[in-house]
Amino acid sequence: MGSISVLLVGKVLPYLEQELDKRYNLFRGIDPSQRAAVLRDHAASIRAVVASSSGGPDAALIEALPKLEIVSSFSVGVDRIDLQKCKEKGVRVTNTPDVLTDEVADLTIGLILAVLRRICECDRYVRSGNWKKGDYKLTTKFSGKTLGILGLGRIGAAVAKRAEGFDCSICYYSRNEKPDSKYKYYPSVVELASNCDVLVVACPLTSETHHIINREVINALGPKGVLINIGRGKHVDEPELVSALLEGRLGGAGLDVFEKEPHVPEELFGLENVVLLPHVGSATVETRTAMADLVLDNLEAHFLGKPLLTPLV
Ligand code: NAP
Repeated sequence: MGSISVLLVGKVLPYLEQELDKRYNLFRGIDPSQRAAVLRDHAASIRAVVASSSGGPDAALIEALPKLEIVSSFSVGVDRIDLQKCKEKGVRVTNTPDVLTDEVADLTIGLILAVLRRICECDRYVRSGNWKKGDYKLTTKFSGKTLGILGLGRIGAAVAKRAEGFDCSICYYSRNEKPDSKYKYYPSVVELASNCDVLVVACPLTSETHHIINREVINALGPKGVLINIGRGKHVDEPELVSALLEGRLGGAGLDVFEKEPHVPEELFGLENVVLLPHVGSATVETRTAMADLVLDNLEAHFLGKPLLTPLV
């Protein structure tokens, strides 16, 4: 398969990049100027694109690759890929579902505890020597709280399962009520936010879910409510979130994702009720390696004419 040309357009695990380099004729196109040069000389030969949560092919790139057969994403979220254009052009798309579900759900529980129990702030308190001057103030209990889940899919359900271990009441909103779910369904995000203590965003980013967490939802969550976003930054109207936190209209936030990564609103840096993570939901050696292997296996299956492992389009 060394003669097959593959274009890499999103940041991936170095192991994946090395394996792609070993197995295919790999072109690197993460940087726009690098990509323009690759397209000038090799657009006609590229048969696969490897994407990730940091970059994927838009309509123009798909149009520019006449031999493109498959886009394989090193992520479960495919918001960086123009799926409609892929469908039109008969380009297959694969992602990495399931292998990262536990990891992201574990981190979500970690974020909830970190915000409610002020774990990061307590750590800074000890390191700064402040403990010698007095005890840290009391925080908020997680066990028994009501957890609202926006998007009861693979990750949302895994978060719910873990929260059951904390005796939480669980409710959710998705476009469709899940007939097999024992959790309470609310038919809108505002109703969900009004009826929970902690709201976890775990739906895919689409035109429908862009800024689904707006001022109305944030106000419904209220001054004691906590927002946890492990979906995508663009789910949240970030300026609205910042002003709600600064004005005390929202109780706290745990954020793994941001609207303009790696840029994070600096107004959040000084807030003790906010925990900020650099988009590390799936970022363990074990899970990122499993994701990389799934990308490789999907590409191999495609080029050997076997069924794809995780086809999306
Ligand atoms: P999934 O199994 O497809 O679940 C998505 C859920 O969202 C479904 O229950 C779906 O139910 C619901 N949904 C879809 N559109 C919606 C809408 N317009 N309004 C409300 N709910 C909607 O996906 P997953 O594997 O759990 O992954 C979810 C997302 O997590 C990914 O798309 C990705 O963006 C994000 N993620 C982030 C990280 C990270 O590092 N932070 C890692 C992995 C994934 P209905 O179809 O009934 O609406």
